[in-house]
Amino acid sequence: NKWVYTFGDGKAEGKAGLRDLLGGKGANLAEMANLGLPVPPGFTIPTSVCTYFYANDKTYPKELQAQVDKALDYIGKLTDKTFGDPENPLLVSVRSGARASMPGMMDTVLNLGLNDQTVEALASLSGDRRFAFDSYRRFITMYSDVVLGFEHHHFEDILDSFKDSQGYQLDTDLSSEDWEMLVGKYKEAVATETGKEFPQDPHDQLWGAIGAVFSSWMNARAVTYRKLHDIPESWGTAVNVQAMVFGNMGDTSATGVAFTRNPSTGESKLYGEFLINAQGEDVVAGIRTPQDITEDARIESGSDRASMEVAMPEAFKELTRIYTLLEKHYRDMQDMEFTVERGKLWMLQTRSGKRTAKAALRIAVELANEGLISENDAVLRVDPASLDQLLHPTIDPAAKRDVVATGLPASPGAASGEIVFSSDEATKLQADGRKVILVRIETSPEDIHGMHAAEGILTTRGGMTSHAAVVARGMGKPCVSGCGTIRVDYGRGTMSIGGRTFKTGDVITIDGSVGQVLAGRMPMIEPELSGEFGTLMGWADAVRETGVRVNADTPEDARTAIKFGAEGIGLCRTEHMFFEETRIRTVREMILSEEEQERRAALAKLLPMQRADFVELFEIMKGLPVTIRLLDPPLHEFLPHTQAEVEEVARAMNTDPRRLADRARELSEFNPMLGFRGCRLAIAYPEIAEMQARAIFEAAVEAEKRTGEAVGLEVMVPLIATKAEFDLVKARIDAMAQAVIRETGAKLEYQVGTMIELPRAALMAGQIAEAAEFFSFGTNDLTQTTYGISRDDAGSFLGAYVAKGILEIDPFISIDRDGVGELVKIGVERGRATRPNLKVGICGEHGGDPASVAFCHKIGMNYVSCSPYRVPIARLAAAQSAL
Ligand code: PEP
Ligand code: MG
Repeated sequence: NKWVYTFGDGKAEGKAGLRDLLGGKGANLAEMANLGLPVPPGFTIPTSVCTYFYANDKTYPKELQAQVDKALDYIGKLTDKTFGDPENPLLVSVRSGARASMPGMMDTVLNLGLNDQTVEALASLSGDRRFAFDSYRRFITMYSDVVLGFEHHHFEDILDSFKDSQGYQLDTDLSSEDWEMLVGKYKEAVATETGKEFPQDPHDQLWGAIGAVFSSWMNARAVTYRKLHDIPESWGTAVNVQAMVFGNMGDTSATGVAFTRNPSTGESKLYGEFLINAQGEDVVAGIRTPQDITEDARIESGSDRASMEVAMPEAFKELTRIYTLLEKHYRDMQDMEFTVERGKLWMLQTRSGKRTAKAALRIAVELANEGLISENDAVLRVDPASLDQLLHPTIDPAAKRDVVATGLPASPGAASGEIVFSSDEATKLQADGRKVILVRIETSPEDIHGMHAAEGILTTRGGMTSHAAVVARGMGKPCVSGCGTIRVDYGRGTMSIGGRTFKTGDVITIDGSVGQVLAGRMPMIEPELSGEFGTLMGWADAVRETGVRVNADTPEDARTAIKFGAEGIGLCRTEHMFFEETRIRTVREMILSEEEQERRAALAKLLPMQRADFVELFEIMKGLPVTIRLLDPPLHEFLPHTQAEVEEVARAMNTDPRRLADRARELSEFNPMLGFRGCRLAIAYPEIAEMQARAIFEAAVEAEKRTGEAVGLEVMVPLIATKAEFDLVKARIDAMAQAVIRETGAKLEYQVGTMIELPRAALMAGQIAEAAEFFSFGTNDLTQTTYGISRDDAGSFLGAYVAKGILEIDPFISIDRDGVGELVKIGVERGRATRPNLKVGICGEHGGDPASVAFCHKIGMNYVSCSPYRVPIARLAAAQSAL
């Protein structure tokens, strides 16, 4: 069995296509080696070993050790060094690398192979004793942290108190003797705290590190990350062992991170950061603020520290050659890590770069325009759900900004909220429905839950590639990073800038597009949809087969949806029109009336209001289809709840409040969601449906008069279980249409159809379609009634179901294909068997969920209907399902 894959010197045993086996990092290192790029030689222990490791009580396949030894010899030959040799030691890095990138989730050990002897060899070979001991202490700290579980801060404490005692400010103030002495103290601390000497045998070190990487696959933060990103546990991680190259060998050495295009805006320009005389994680960790790579970027940022282009022109030229080649090769924006060792550039990693939604759009469109990918590829490149980030508000440019500090524009968009200084606090407040901004000196993977809970993230340390920046961009949350003028005091719960102090609970706004921190809550405005957005959506629409409509109850919703490309209204919930403050009283009068007479009087008051609502909607939709659903209230939402409300309605109805309260009590239900809802109301009180039908038809006549365009009118009956229910309500609607036609002399085109949202309706769809002219699947209720899970109460236990793996995902969010989906399929098939051209859509929340849209496409629905901000998401998801 092959358990080790080597790479280096222009060739490799792996390649990019072996990602599942070698992990992303390993596969791409192999690919770069095959391309002849300068990659330090190394080898990958594949994910199959991780699988073996967990299946066999954390042991390794028996051939592994021999194969690792052989691979170490191979690296040794290429580098002219020997692992463990006291005179000429090979030093290696050990890194994890899963199939999907999990930034900062797993662990890395650098400079492995150093011990009390080899450090002396490194000192004499490099001619730099300070460098050798600095490398050794880095190794001890990383190794102790990752492998021995001995936390970083112990070392920081030792270092800080030493610096204080000497009056040093910076790490660079320490001499080689200082580091040498500190290395001794570090080892002592490890020995006393863990009860074991720091391992001196390089082979022990290596196997310790390999075991730690495999074990880290199951650590808490990796588990959380996987859960958030739907990464299966079974994938496992690979381990990459690679010859060390040093970015900390003085001023001709450096380390950096570069993107072939700007990951925030998508602009086609090399973008990145580097640090001279630094090693590996320094850039990502955000401990020192990095320098710009290109001179253009330096000028733009106004930095007075040299760019790589100027400081290391040769290495910069090589980087430019390589990045152009890599982007063409992979046909995508690359995120690369590199090290310069004494002027020579080495590539340590390349991968498809994470990017904001805005950048993803621009990059996809530009790559297609450059001919690197097809338009259809571009459509497939953008994650539909990520469009959400583009559609959200930004700060009103007209508003006065009280800028209290400026940092880096790490992730675009703006957000306001209360300041919190810990991730636990963020999670707690968010659960109470509060909006918070998470303020941290820097974030680490332990902050993932807090970052999720927060509206935005502000850090005082770290660059554009710091943990906070990378993770926030991935989440689509606004982030300002590296805001160095802010002093955070966790103990007091304050942050101060200049003379101003903000404390926990104070409201601030962050603008991640420009890197500003502002006092107070700012007014926000709707986004302008950029040129690339339109282009990509155009390409998407060209291949899309499923229509996209909107669930809209207000003119504002309808206008937003038209802007986002909705092709009609798939659901207008008329009960939502009744919640308005001035109307609710009349609605209550109608519901609480004991006599038909009284009810008709209340309905007469509602008629003109309804009619005006519909005229406006029809005008906005300009002849596009509009599906209006008859009243479907869970009744309890309309009943008066307080004594004051009872009295108010009683006064309007001229009755005794006590009598009215009794009537309200009579109407209250044990199970409102399965109670007096939907068409049941129209059957008990046909005059309500008649009023609505009259309002609809009169409005259609009126709108047509105003716009000259016929309304694409569809009247929909909710929550039916039997054909007889539908027949009865439809007869009333048709009669009203005839009446309005008689009265106005107008021609009226319309269809009457039904919601399919009860299992019985889905099963009886064949019969129902004899009368119904269209179906719209109400998958909210259909999920509720199929599972027998209350959609309003599911929150308290569905979380546990998902956490325990009983359900993969909340079925109210993404359609349960096996169960609820089967009923939908049956409904479509039986309906169309009766009426072959039956128009079928969906209007439950699932209509805006990309996976559910794919399902609707697959079973041949004519359209999906979703909330306004989800319309572009549904358009793109529908296009992707058609490709
Ligand atoms: C549904 O049940 O899926 C639906 C769209 O109707 P409502 O959410 O209004 O019950
Ligand atoms: Mg419903």
